Amino acid sequence: MEKVESTQVFPSLITKTLKALYSGIIDMVYPPLCLICDNRLEQAEIELCNSCLNNFKLIGKPHEQFSVPGDIFISTAWALFEFDEPFQQLIHHLKYSRRRKPIGVVLDHYKSQILDQFPGGEIDYVVSVPLHPRKLRERGYNQVDDMSRWFAGKLNAELGNYLVKRHKYTSTQTQLNAEERMENVREAFGVNDSSVLQGKHVLLVDDVLTTGATSNALAEILVQNGAAKIDLVTLSTPQFGNA
Ligand SMILES: [Zn+2]
Repeated sequence: MEKVESTQVFPSLITKTLKALYSGIIDMVYPPLCLICDNRLEQAEIELCNSCLNNFKLIGKPHEQFSVPGDIFISTAWALFEFDEPFQQLIHHLKYSRRRKPIGVVLDHYKSQILDQFPGGEIDYVVSVPLHPRKLRERGYNQVDDMSRWFAGKLNAELGNYLVKRHKYTSTQTQLNAEERMENVREAFGVNDSSVLQGKHVLLVDDVLTTGATSNALAEILVQNGAAKIDLVTLSTPQFGNA
């Protein structure tokens, strides 16, 4: 009996010790640094130091300037944080350097102030603004899926990413004005299952609110397919702050 136990415990102890040793060496060679300020992280800090984390500026209320040319299908839009330099860095990492963890860290850190702004128990589905399958392949993930999952969990809503699709590949929109963007995203989206959307309240999730043309086009499709109300939450918007 004793022998059996020791053969079970011993290898796992060795594995554990080796793992700890390995991560200790990795940390010595490549100490974990804050994504924003490059300072060395304390043991309890993940991806961001507390100082940077505390310096993000939560706006704390819905975005009041949401407007796109034509009809607006979004009832309330939130851009959670000011678009200052450190926050732009964070978004850049999220999008282009496969650093997904920090978003969860930021949302958790500001959890109560974020959730205080949202209606409790009213939202049925949380839906990421989808990427075209080609872009999804290029990037490897939708950078807002973790945020959608976070909101669905916290708001007790269903994650509804499977409900929508993006069937038109839209090239980068940064050089386009609002009218051109709207033209570019028109008919870009489709709905996979309209039967479950009837009368539902949907929260769309995107990383940055620029003109709102993309999310409004998706909202239009959802409304046409029976959804009753569409809200939008983004991490930030250049319509605030220094941009
Ligand atoms: Zn930092």
